[in-house]
Amino acid sequence: MPKLSDKLTEVRDRVRSAAISAGRDPDSVALMAVSKRQSSEAIRELFEAGQTLFGENYLQEALDKQTLLADLNIDWHFIGPIQSNKAQALAQHFSWVHSVDRMKVAKLLSQHRPSHLPPLNICLQINIDDEASKSGATPTEAAALAEELTHLPNLRLRGLMAIPKPRTGFAEQKKVLEAVALLQQQLQRQLPQTPLDTLSMGMSSDLDAAIAAGATVVRIGTALFGERT
Ligand SMILES: *Cc1c(COP(=O)(O)O)cnc(C)c1O
Repeated sequence: MPKLSDKLTEVRDRVRSAAISAGRDPDSVALMAVSKRQSSEAIRELFEAGQTLFGENYLQEALDKQTLLADLNIDWHFIGPIQSNKAQALAQHFSWVHSVDRMKVAKLLSQHRPSHLPPLNICLQINIDDEASKSGATPTEAAALAEELTHLPNLRLRGLMAIPKPRTGFAEQKKVLEAVALLQQQLQRQLPQTPLDTLSMGMSSDLDAAIAAGATVVRIGTALFGERT
C-alpha cells in the first residue's frame, strides 16, 4: 500500500499539471479529500501530510469522525444527499454544504445556522444530465432557485456543484463540465451582487477535464485513499 502522503503528493501534482495545461493558476484549484467510508486514522494521516479540506457524504459518519478528530483544525464540507431532518446538524457542524438542491432544505439550513458562526457557504447542486436517480436541481430550475437562495440571511451562495454521469475520454468529460461552467456564468450575470467564485466539480476519473472546464474545487476520494471497501 502506498503511503497516503505519497498519494497526496501525486494528486496535488496532477491538479497542478492540469491547471498549467489549462492556462490556469494552480492555486485557483482547491483539493478536497473525500473521506466517506475512510477511517479517522486515515484522515489524521492525510491531515498530518498537509491536507485540511475534507468532504463527507453521510451525516452520522461525519459527526463521529469530527468528534474523534476534534483536536485537528479540519475544514469539513458536506457533499452528500440531504434529508430535511438532517439540516439542523449540517448547519451546525459544517462550513460548507455543496449539495443544496431545493428551497425547503436551504431554508432549514439558514434557519438553523448558529448565530456565532459566519454564514454557511453553499453550492447549488445541478443535475446536469437530468438523471432521474440523481439529486440536484435541473438547469432550468437553477435561475429561480439561485435567486431565492440569495435572500436567505444565513447562507452564502458561492456557486454550483455537479456530478455528471461517467463518461470516457477527456473531450466528452470536458463538454458536460463546460455546460456547468456556462450555467454558472449565466447565473452570475443574473446575480451581479453575489460573487459566484466556486465551481465544485471533478472527481478521481474526470479531475483533469474538470480543471480544464474551470473547476475551483475538485472532490477526490479514490485517487487519494484507494478503492472504497
Ligand atoms: C464519493 C464522491 C466523490 C469522490 O469520488 P472519487 O471517484 O472516489 O474520487 C466526489 N464527490 C461526491 C459527491 C462523492 O459522493
